[in-house]
Amino acid sequence: MADETDAGQRRMTRRDALKTAGLAGAAALSTTAAASAQAREETATVKNPYGGVPSGGITLPPYYRPTPYLVSNNIYYPGQEPIGPDEMRISFIGSTPIPVTKTQAGTCIMVELGNGNRFFFDFGSGCMRNIIAMAVPLQTVNDIFFTHLHVDHYADLPYLYAFAPWMGRWKPLRVHGPSGRSPKDGIKHMIEGMKMMTYWHTDSFNALPIGDGYEIEVNEFDFRDDNGICYDKDGVVIRHWRRAHTKDGASAYRLDWNGLSFVWTGDGRPDELSLELAKGVDVFVTEVQPDVANLQALKFGMPPIMAQNTIDQAHSPHYAVGYMFDKIQPRLAMVTHVSYDEELIPEITAGIRVHYSGLFQFGAPDIVVVNVTKDAVWTRKAALPEAGNMARPSPREAIGLFDLSPTNLEVKFPNPRHTVANVQEQAVRDREIDPKKYYPPDVYREPQPNFPQDFTIDVREIVLKKAKMAQAKLSTKAAEVQAIIDVIEAAK
Ligand SMILES: [Zn+2]
Ligand SMILES: [Zn+2]
Repeated sequence: MADETDAGQRRMTRRDALKTAGLAGAAALSTTAAASAQAREETATVKNPYGGVPSGGITLPPYYRPTPYLVSNNIYYPGQEPIGPDEMRISFIGSTPIPVTKTQAGTCIMVELGNGNRFFFDFGSGCMRNIIAMAVPLQTVNDIFFTHLHVDHYADLPYLYAFAPWMGRWKPLRVHGPSGRSPKDGIKHMIEGMKMMTYWHTDSFNALPIGDGYEIEVNEFDFRDDNGICYDKDGVVIRHWRRAHTKDGASAYRLDWNGLSFVWTGDGRPDELSLELAKGVDVFVTEVQPDVANLQALKFGMPPIMAQNTIDQAHSPHYAVGYMFDKIQPRLAMVTHVSYDEELIPEITAGIRVHYSGLFQFGAPDIVVVNVTKDAVWTRKAALPEAGNMARPSPREAIGLFDLSPTNLEVKFPNPRHTVANVQEQAVRDREIDPKKYYPPDVYREPQPNFPQDFTIDVREIVLKKAKMAQAKLSTKAAEVQAIIDVIEAAK
């Protein structure tokens, strides 16, 4: 036993030596000669991929550092950190296919750009809860890109669709997604189905000012048009390509803006086209399914072939993810769409490290925030409130929502499409309790269920007063507020 161990040490790496130490005891490592032989071998074989420096880490490149715009290097405080003009901010709003948990909503990635644009990629179950927690006003949530039409990627769309118009997004919702093998497989068909499903809701809300909020502009692109452009506006170009994922239509996206780039592959098998079209991207995000079906069989009671076959039809095992990272060489490689099981994280990381030694981070659990500039890449977690109100649109967002301008300082509410009487039997309303029985007399208010026609708010005095107060109070927003005041003053 001792002889075998001594002979073996001559070709041992440190990792092997530590393993042996565990088995045979520390005595096996006791000779100075053996230790120095090991040291020489380590020098020859071990390499920091970034040619790093002491205390710099092994997988952390010099550009892994905060961008100049962060309020805190450690925590993203929702709604408190303006994005830099040359910055891209990527937030993993939801990060799991199933199960959704207290710490993981369904897959959804929000990409915000220094030019003021904001995009969403997929819109899974529970993502609305996290969008609200991230202080993003629901009225401003628009331009949602769907990688494919598995429900874990669009479950919260009906919820947004039904409620955002009530909050003042009186303009159409814009969604983008692939066609499919037949017209029934494309996103247009899914949207028609959603309109049918939500008919009772939307019809009832049409007794309120909704405008065109229940219209949907569907950008259904040809899923076969690999590397085709599906969005090109304000210097932002978004391309798509086919992915191998259970059936035709599944697509990856690449967003390019101002020399920065982001790829979300959506779900799918590791594929050669993604290696080519994502090559050298700043932030490359793919999905991962740890290939540990034997363990899952023990835990869930499902036979291993269920998990294995699901991976083989549809998903990227952790080894494949590392292989893709190595070929693509992004500045930051990430995985999301993964059940963040603490027990499996070391195993997933180990599988990825079989092939890839560069910068790698998880886009999970909720909510990981990534800031990207040409010089820096940085990840943090967002501080999320347990509960909270919905954020108000900023003055600038409100101007866009209501088309305010120096020549138009009135918010004209759209007229409701019908009255309550059109959709509800009078006999039911007649059974309502007389409000005088529950309102104290000094606060009595006569209920008016029908919204008034041609209702208008002149924002001039309201905004001017509030803007001046805000300007005095919040120096960080002074420039934004001044822009509003300028608009109003100019119209006087
Ligand atoms: Zn999925
Ligand atoms: Zn899927």
